Amino acid sequence: MGDLTHSDALKVGDEARLVVETLHHVTPRAEIVAVITSSDRPIPGFNIDPIVGENATHEFELIRERIQNQLSGSEPLGSFTWTISRTEWGVLVEPIELLDGQIVGALLVARHGRVWSQREISIVRAFSGLFGKVASQTTREGVLLHQRRLDELVSQVAERLMSATAATRREVLAWTTRVLAEFLDSDVALLRRNDHVRGLSILEAEWPIRTGFVGPDPLGEVRFDADPLFMATKDLREPYLPGMEDATDEYLARLEAGAGSTLLAGAAVPLLMGDTTWGVLGFIHFELRSWKRAEINALQAVASMLVQLQARIDAEERTAYIALHDDLTDLPNRRALLRELKLRRAAHRDTAVLIIDLDRFKVMNDFLGHANGDRLLITIADRIRTSIRVNDYCARLGGDEFVVLLDEANSEMEVQASAYRLLELVAAPVDLGGQLVSHTASIGIAIADSVSTMTDSDILAAADGAMYVAKARGRNKAILLDEEMRAALEDRSRMELMLREALEKDELRLHFQPEVDLRTGRLLSVEALVRWQHPDRGLMAAADFITVAEETGLVLTIGRWVFAEACRQLSAWMKEYPELPLVVRVNMSPAEFAATDLVEFVENCLLVNHIPGERLCIEITEYAVVDEPEKTAAILRGFREIGVEVAIDDFGTGFASMTELKHLPVDLLKLDMSFVTGITSDAYDRAIVESIIRLGDVLHLGVTAEGIEQSDVVEELLTLGCHRGQGYLISRPVGPEELIPLLSAGRVPLSLLRPAELTLGLASTTF
Ligand code: C2E
Ligand code: MG
Ligand code: MG
Repeated sequence: MGDLTHSDALKVGDEARLVVETLHHVTPRAEIVAVITSSDRPIPGFNIDPIVGENATHEFELIRERIQNQLSGSEPLGSFTWTISRTEWGVLVEPIELLDGQIVGALLVARHGRVWSQREISIVRAFSGLFGKVASQTTREGVLLHQRRLDELVSQVAERLMSATAATRREVLAWTTRVLAEFLDSDVALLRRNDHVRGLSILEAEWPIRTGFVGPDPLGEVRFDADPLFMATKDLREPYLPGMEDATDEYLARLEAGAGSTLLAGAAVPLLMGDTTWGVLGFIHFELRSWKRAEINALQAVASMLVQLQARIDAEERTAYIALHDDLTDLPNRRALLRELKLRRAAHRDTAVLIIDLDRFKVMNDFLGHANGDRLLITIADRIRTSIRVNDYCARLGGDEFVVLLDEANSEMEVQASAYRLLELVAAPVDLGGQLVSHTASIGIAIADSVSTMTDSDILAAADGAMYVAKARGRNKAILLDEEMRAALEDRSRMELMLREALEKDELRLHFQPEVDLRTGRLLSVEALVRWQHPDRGLMAAADFITVAEETGLVLTIGRWVFAEACRQLSAWMKEYPELPLVVRVNMSPAEFAATDLVEFVENCLLVNHIPGERLCIEITEYAVVDEPEKTAAILRGFREIGVEVAIDDFGTGFASMTELKHLPVDLLKLDMSFVTGITSDAYDRAIVESIIRLGDVLHLGVTAEGIEQSDVVEELLTLGCHRGQGYLISRPVGPEELIPLLSAGRVPLSLLRPAELTLGLASTTF
């Protein structure tokens, strides 16, 4: 007993006194309320002053003596009625029993002339039970036992909480609440979360679990101000032990109705996450209860473990979220999309896959600056996200590509209609710092229905293919992949495979098509055009495979091979025909401009083969100029520095602006075949050709015509002032051996270009 410190004993005494006072309060007509301890086993702190009515001192002495006798064993302990000085007294005696069963004292309530009601008897019993617990804890064994059980409990809870995951969280919280409630013998245990943004206290776990309500749980989400306890614990920082003095009358009335008791003792410990009270762990007893420091400490330990668990789950969820979402727009990313598509297909949901690609976004991005480009993407992402139906899905694939999955895609017409709605949505102007910008997009659609045998990535590739078709057909369109396109796509992927092999197996060849002076027939240059000696299909023209090469990046390898081969060939010709001032032209795709070492590579090829720069001309398409004007200009300046000429191929089709042209180091414009062919029949084509020739004059650029197939075209070109040209009329592209006669002669016969004049010439000699 001596193990309890003086101050502990004082505290116990305080509590015991409070209990006695409360008991007096709830049994208003009691004349005597006292704790009687056995004289041979005193409990520290329990020798508190009895409450004795004015005229009951004598009776109290008698009653106490009798009970003390009972306690020492001569009489069994129990309640009795006793006539003292001709007055009948109702004496209620309830034992104070330690946890191990020893009786160490009794709680006494007495009054004269009245029988005790059942309710009063049970209240006194509850109070003596409470004394028993307090007394147990004041004994050394009791303290140790309780502490050990608490420690065990805490470590058991710790173990469960450590191994909990997001998936088992609910279950573990329910278990924790239950074991704590059982240990503390609580009537109700609660774990509630505080949603400070919405002002709600939200139930996370409870014990016992209530059932029987219809509709939403009335205690599930409750406004803080709807309940004084929630209000009191909303920003709780320290343990809070509410008792009856904290409860309003109205609250006690509710308690009485609900729990059948007006006694109340609670404990709430906060779950602190930094500065915020994330939630509370609370216990309610519909009886009197005193809380031990050790118990509150244990609850605080559990609370901090709960917070740790929550923090860990939050972090895990955040990581999982980041892994599946795009940083910029917060939309699901490619990985999330693939997962979603898989789920939908596994559930046999007909799904339309729409790939939305912004048209020429790069140009816009460079022009507006990246910050504005990002804002444009975010705005478009928000528009898509908020416009789709609940069961649809949208993701960002990266860059300027978005994907929408449309659910229940059973009518192609509906899918098309949705796609066009999306196009309108994307194209609506966006306000970028006062500047209104609108941006079109192209959409490719593939439908994955339940009978489709395509894999998920096949379907994405198909939608992607359809998107390319949409771009090729002039952009700002939505194209649904049809059978024909699908076959072409399959063909394309087969082609890609074979093309890779072709490079390894050395199946590429170079053919050359001459360009001549249309007035004299003199050979000016040859254009190198790549060919593929295909094992099954025979010799294939560049037009049949160069697009695939460009889209797959293979064009980089092909381009380097072509360039090296063209230089090797030119160097051989220079030795063979030293007098011939022959220029070789090489085509380059915009994709090849992405390589940072392009100019060095070209310079190196020239050096190795001893070729002066001016013997080489590089043909680029107008698109390279339009798409990436700055980068293209930088590379072209590099070419000019090493003396290499630059021609703009297919000129007139790509809408390069005059201003752009003026600032580019370009030497030659090649009139696109489509205008050249129409020059004799179509006034419009003729006007275009004429204006390009004028443009060349003004900018001091050479102009040459490609695709000349008829001699009257030559005539017309000469009339308009264009003196250079190439085309089937003069020569098809041919292998180096076939070119030998032309190289030796250095010219084509004039008769080839102007048969009419030839006829005339012949006639004059005849006559
Ligand atoms: P391009 O540079 O405009 O080449 C002209 C294309 O038109 C060639 O087709 C040529 O065979 C064809 N052609 C020439 N004269 C006539 C004619 O009178 N009538 C008709 N109907 N066609 C004529 P090819 O060789 O299939 O090349 C197609 C395109 O592929 C080329 O257009 C060029 O842009 C690209 N290309 C060709 N070789 C290469 C290369 O080595 N590298 C790169 N990057 N692109 C190449
Ligand atoms: Mg060309
Ligand atoms: Mg061309």
